[in-house]
Amino acid sequence: YSLDLFTYPEHYHEDIESVYIPHGVIRNRIERLAHYIVDDFGENAIMVLCVLKGGYKFCADLVDFIKVFGRNSSKYLETRVEFIRLKSYLNDQSTEDLHIIGSRDLSFLHGKSVLIVEAIVDTGKTMKALLKHVETFEPKMVKVAGLLVKRVPNMAESLTDYVGFEIPNHFVVGYALDYNEYFRDLNHICVISKTGKMKYKV
Ligand code: 5GP
Ligand code: MG
Ligand code: MG
Repeated sequence: YSLDLFTYPEHYHEDIESVYIPHGVIRNRIERLAHYIVDDFGENAIMVLCVLKGGYKFCADLVDFIKVFGRNSSKYLETRVEFIRLKSYLNDQSTEDLHIIGSRDLSFLHGKSVLIVEAIVDTGKTMKALLKHVETFEPKMVKVAGLLVKRVPNMAESLTDYVGFEIPNHFVVGYALDYNEYFRDLNHICVISKTGKMKYKV
């Protein structure tokens, strides 16, 4: 790893208040989640459904670890990765319209074991809508991996089978999570500063 992964880009220096979860800690936790997932899915092929855009880093790292641990079991654990895009946020506020964009036809999920991979579950509204959509394709089972879960105790927790971290109700960015499409390129999960919020507001 180059040192760049352990710092944050120069152009964000004024925009970040604090590093909330460092990249290495995120990776360690994902490794642990992969263990649980491999144990639970057993020999069932995993249909991974990655929720874009925020879930892309989590999904990539999680699938890597699943491959490593899946190889140690008696049979090679098969995974297929598909992507779905959801959008509901403007600035740091949730909006009423939730859009499912791309990969709307998920008929390959029929009778399969599905793992939904989402970066953050807040009110759970997004996940509830997605679960409803996924269930229409009649999968054998559906599990949810959420790297971050907010506002505990609430519904978000009960919707998420594999929780990376429980966090208080702060708006966070980095590790593919955005603020109006900025900050996805940070490797750490961070809290943005007032300056950052102003600078990238739309
Ligand atoms: P929910 O429907 O559970 O309230 O919101 C979940 C969605 O809101 C996530 O998929 C994510 O796009 C967005 N979201 C919620 N909290 C945060 C946050 O702290 N930071 C970022 N970047 N997005 C968030
Ligand atoms: Mg999202
Ligand atoms: Mg977003």
